[in-house]
Amino acid sequence: MDLIKLASALIPDTDLLPLDKYEEMYPPRDLPKGAQVTRLAPSPTGFIHLGNLYSALADERIAHTTGGIFYLRIEDTDEKRRVEGAVESVIRSLKYFNVNFDEGAEIDSPLNKYGPYYQRRRASIYRAFAKDLIARGLAYPCFCKEEELDRVREEQTAQKQITGYYGRYAVCRNLSEEQIYANLAAGKPFVIRLKSQGSTENKLTFRDRIKGEITVTENDQDVVLLKSDGIPTYHFAHAIDDHFMRTTLVIRGEEWLSSLPVHIELFKVLGFPMPAYGHTCSLMKMDGGTKRKLSKRKDPELSLDYYRKAGYYPVAVVKYLMTILNSNFEEWERKNPDADYTQFRFTIEKMGKSGALFDLDKLNDISRTELSRLSAEEMYDFLNGWAEEFGSDSDRAHFADRAYVIDILNLVMGTNSKKRRKDIERAEQGAALIGYFFDDTFSPVYDYRFDGDTVNAILSGFAAEYDPSDDNSAWFAKVKSVAARCGFAAEMSDYRADPSAYRGSVADAAEILRIAVTGMPNSPDLCTIMKILGRERSLARLAAARVG
Ligand code: GLU
Repeated sequence: MDLIKLASALIPDTDLLPLDKYEEMYPPRDLPKGAQVTRLAPSPTGFIHLGNLYSALADERIAHTTGGIFYLRIEDTDEKRRVEGAVESVIRSLKYFNVNFDEGAEIDSPLNKYGPYYQRRRASIYRAFAKDLIARGLAYPCFCKEEELDRVREEQTAQKQITGYYGRYAVCRNLSEEQIYANLAAGKPFVIRLKSQGSTENKLTFRDRIKGEITVTENDQDVVLLKSDGIPTYHFAHAIDDHFMRTTLVIRGEEWLSSLPVHIELFKVLGFPMPAYGHTCSLMKMDGGTKRKLSKRKDPELSLDYYRKAGYYPVAVVKYLMTILNSNFEEWERKNPDADYTQFRFTIEKMGKSGALFDLDKLNDISRTELSRLSAEEMYDFLNGWAEEFGSDSDRAHFADRAYVIDILNLVMGTNSKKRRKDIERAEQGAALIGYFFDDTFSPVYDYRFDGDTVNAILSGFAAEYDPSDDNSAWFAKVKSVAARCGFAAEMSDYRADPSAYRGSVADAAEILRIAVTGMPNSPDLCTIMKILGRERSLARLAAARVG
């Protein structure tokens, strides 16, 4: 068969360059020794998830700690799944988590010399290489219809055979020249398949940078290289792109491990050296005592939007992911509590080999600690930024009064830098936590432990004496005096010595005031809360909280 003629008949494109031109156009990168070139290669489906961030963080850290490049390539070969705005959303989401690209799709950089970075815009490169494989007898057209392939798959499954297009099932592999040209003349659609040279009799050892040495079976599947619309499959496109974009390390999910034999064969037939590969383990969670993979359908926390909407502090999410990415990160953090996480020496060898357990409680804990390190002003900026993007109208209205919110935050967080309170976990919860400082979100539960007359006596007795200019001790002296007048012990020691002699203690009296003003039995310092609320609002609350 005249293979050169066949290649031109199947791929008649006139814009393809001689293959060595592509090598010239995309020369090896001029980077220091040891520098790694990594990439994130998402499909623009609009769903950017924690697994993407997990890989991206590893990619970004490795590139940037070795003086290399981290770039963004968009794998948009599946037109049906493409979502408008998805690329911007990837960039925005990753940027929020401090993961920034040096080069790639939609990145404004002088480094963008290895593009286009959208696979659909690279069609001629893939087609040039497919054409060459056909001409070398390493690829062929397949005219099988979907239904036929489905039928064969069912038959293979029923007979407990490996499914796919290989061996005796690869019927188009042996079409004669006449049959091929007759099919083409009849206008039958076709795909281009690899003519696999491998055999499942052979085993290959492969050094995965994360999983270590693994043994795989050689590929014998005639996988599709170009689909009937001329667009490549992931297998073919990624091999060509990672070669010409001069990727040195591919970090991707372990779901690709089963395709590794195909990729090994593709690099071999294309004549490209393989980059190093590291397959990350899946993120798992405990669900009713069993460990399972995080699922898009069941677990909202898989989506990165979840963290932005809930107002997680980005550094907390990153630090948490670092703890599951590199087993020695936590120890390093303990020794260097004030160091920036980028100072940690991230290494691919320390990445987990199997199922990383995702633990939301631990993330929440880290988030609380990270947020407690902020000044009230920084916390305000963080909460306000969240409110502007994700908060309700009422959240936005609350944050409009910066000075008022900063006073609240100083109280809620505490001003002692060694003993900050860790009450704020994420912006959404933080905004709700301070809701009682605003009348529209003040929803008190007047759950008193005393009868109405006693409660009212305490409330009105204190209201009559309240002066917002009192300092803490003057304020407390008034609480004591009202308490004593209403039959409560003004001193705790007196109460403890003879509880039956009193209605309760000064602490109980203060609790009544606290419930009235904050709507809850527990709160930060009440005297300060009343100062922040101001005289009028405090008195109105004392009045509204009366029983009966
Ligand atoms: N487009 C592939 C995905 O989204 C990328 C896999 C890879 O990183 O090579 O899963």
